[in-house]
Amino acid sequence: MNRDRSFKLLLTGFLILSSGPFLLPLNAADAKRPNVIFIFTDDHAAHAMSCYGSKINQTPNLDRIAREGMRFQNCFCTNSICGPSRAVILTGKHSHLNGYKTNEGGESFNGAQQTFPKLLQTAGYQTAMIGKWHLGNNPTGFDYSDILVGQGPYYNPPMIANGQRVQRTGYTTEILTDLALDWLEKGRDKDKPFMLMWQHKAPHREWQPGPKYFDLYKDVTIPEPDTLFDDYSGRGTAAHKQDMTIEKTMTRFDLKFDPPKNLNPEQLAAWHKAYDDENAAFEKAKLTGKELVRWKYQRYIKDYLRCVAAVDDGVGRVLKHLDDAGLAQNTIVIYSSDQGFYLGDHGWFDKRFMYEPSLRMPLVARWPGVIKPGSLNTDLVQNLDFAETFLDLAGAEIPQDMQGRSIVPLLKGQTPSDWRKSIYYHYYEFFSDRGASHAVRRHYGVRTDRYKLIHFYNEDEWELFDLQKDPNEMRSIYADPANTEVVKELKAEVARLQKLYQVPDDRGKLKASEL
Ligand code: CA
Repeated sequence: MNRDRSFKLLLTGFLILSSGPFLLPLNAADAKRPNVIFIFTDDHAAHAMSCYGSKINQTPNLDRIAREGMRFQNCFCTNSICGPSRAVILTGKHSHLNGYKTNEGGESFNGAQQTFPKLLQTAGYQTAMIGKWHLGNNPTGFDYSDILVGQGPYYNPPMIANGQRVQRTGYTTEILTDLALDWLEKGRDKDKPFMLMWQHKAPHREWQPGPKYFDLYKDVTIPEPDTLFDDYSGRGTAAHKQDMTIEKTMTRFDLKFDPPKNLNPEQLAAWHKAYDDENAAFEKAKLTGKELVRWKYQRYIKDYLRCVAAVDDGVGRVLKHLDDAGLAQNTIVIYSSDQGFYLGDHGWFDKRFMYEPSLRMPLVARWPGVIKPGSLNTDLVQNLDFAETFLDLAGAEIPQDMQGRSIVPLLKGQTPSDWRKSIYYHYYEFFSDRGASHAVRRHYGVRTDRYKLIHFYNEDEWELFDLQKDPNEMRSIYADPANTEVVKELKAEVARLQKLYQVPDDRGKLKASEL
């Protein structure tokens, strides 16, 4: 007998014994278990949220979650790439154990394994997955699913609704918001608590804005990051040999000289109206050098932020619905994104590296009556902790083989004294014999509140950063004799974490012939 059912039986007994004034609806037991809405985006860096101090945009609706709840300053991913981050969240296990280490390595996510949605179902929760799934197969563990096919386009997405392919017309971010609202209003079983995973494609490459957002930021200049013209001195081979610069890697498609291929005539006309004049002026100007990079940065960051704005507006609509429907009080709302992203930081776009802009995930949570409004948490948390947290919120048991830890005590403002003091990271998507997008070398590392040690193990190059003195990670101090002791301690910590997390002995090392 599961916990939910036994609770109901107890309550029924109580109702039989009690008289009129104490009569409760039969589903009162469920009503006490909170609903959870997990809002998840793709590639939304924390430094593009105003509650994280963004210098480049405002996100009033995401900020509302933080203002009425808690903001986590130090949430980090275990492997900074789309599919693998999702797999970690579903399983509560590092990539080497859940089996999904790369997007492009030919692996597919094993949906037969233990995941938190299945465990929530067993605990009596209704589970729904709307939007970007991106694990190469159909979701398991959901009562309802309506997912994008693969990455999904920004416009007119084909989708798979409970296994049936459907074609939808419009701007994907808005479609996914409408689907989430529809399910909340009409789709769900109102007698059961729910877990809704509402997952956007936005603001993933190629950052295509919706028609409503073309004019946003039109006549403003977005501030540039301090490190836009980084020359990578002070760091090793990997930073020099990546392929993710705004200067060299961005395509005409990224930069909106070529429109998306799947627009209808009306959408295409709006697209041309939005970009053609600026494109013509650009062609005429024949920019070179830094001025060219600056122009590309403005084009890129405005489109990225326009995609974020559509997400933020959708979040506002859903928060309003929770208010209007009387659901706000008993529904925990959590917002995060699968990893961070380079917003011109180090001259880059994309993610993958263990450096701060792509390691950090945004994480804000609202839980009325439990989280103190406007609170800030600085403990080291990871996407590895999400599955455990969701189970804990539902009052379900957390399996021993999950590797993270519930952050529910942190939400309550009660960080356990033995909370982790370091996090482990491991990126795998580099195969020199088969190529790999953006050419970021494999690496693992450890981060504490102050230091970060990274090992690019196929090249056997190490980097050490003092995040207090060098928050932009511009100069590795690994070779400085003054840091011998720190290096020794951090290497011991990496070894401890690799043992704790059961990282295979080869550590993901490529064969000599593959290098
Ligand atoms: Ca991503």
